[in-house]
Amino acid sequence: MGGGGTESPDSKKARTHAQASPPPPVVLVWDIDETLVIFNSLQNGEWERAHSDSGAGEAQALGSQWSSAVLDLADSHLFYKQLETHGVMSLEDAAAADDGRDLASYDFDGDVVGRIQSCEGPAPASNDPGPCTPPPEAAYRYREAHRRYSLGLLADAALPSSDRLWHATDTLAAGWLTAAQGLLAACLAHLPVLLGAALGTPPHAGVRDHLPQVRHVAVTSSDLLPSLAKLALFRLDRFFAGRDVLSSRVHGKLECFARLRDRFPGSAAFVAIGDGREEEAAAAALGWPFIKVSLGRCTLGRAEKGGVPLTSLTVMEIAGALGI
Ligand SMILES: [Mg+2]
Repeated sequence: MGGGGTESPDSKKARTHAQASPPPPVVLVWDIDETLVIFNSLQNGEWERAHSDSGAGEAQALGSQWSSAVLDLADSHLFYKQLETHGVMSLEDAAAADDGRDLASYDFDGDVVGRIQSCEGPAPASNDPGPCTPPPEAAYRYREAHRRYSLGLLADAALPSSDRLWHATDTLAAGWLTAAQGLLAACLAHLPVLLGAALGTPPHAGVRDHLPQVRHVAVTSSDLLPSLAKLALFRLDRFFAGRDVLSSRVHGKLECFARLRDRFPGSAAFVAIGDGREEEAAAAALGWPFIKVSLGRCTLGRAEKGGVPLTSLTVMEIAGALGI
């Protein structure tokens, strides 16, 4: 036993840091469609109307190719065709119906999931249908889809055309796809330090574990499985764990946001980022700051007004929404 009784101020400070509980996380709630990912607006002509100098017809052609690529990947690797009528808000809903059966030799072609009553049958008498509970056969597919997504869908799927599509779209959209990747990465790299500085934590590597954690979650108005395919095809899947992607298609954005709020107990700070009125209203209902994204290049007003293109949105703007 050595020493006893004397402790330098530095070691005491370090011990205090080590014992301190980590600060509450920051949760960035991203809308997927026409915020992180664009292709519906390419396909329906909205992008061309907002950008009169974009190639006539080119945007719609690219949007159509994206639509096919997403559905092909969702069908071929995520069982979407079989699970389309067994939609869930999140993979945790599917996991709740999973009995944990070993799927190593499971015959996904031989069971009866296609003939099982779907979650989207007649509406119940209650106004609140409650969470959908898929049958075990559907839950097995969601588990396998989750596994494949986590391993990287593009690493498994042979998609030689997706690189060309990605680059052609990024060029037409003035770097929107590159900006999405860069902003998500920059938030993880820089927001903890900015937040730590605001809390008075020195920004050196030794205290990184004691900086606030930043977590990306995604909410989509589409079905869950095609949205996982979108994230993979747009090269954004490394930023979103499968369970952190939620579909609002059945229950709406407010219920998704409330689910997220309940998932992060304590004093987590949330910021919602999207282009739609529904997520804006849901964020307001929960008292979350909202950053509005718009398709147009014009930055008249900023995020809180007319919206800002994703290509112009910065980490500092997100930090500002957090009050730092
Ligand atoms: Mg949207």
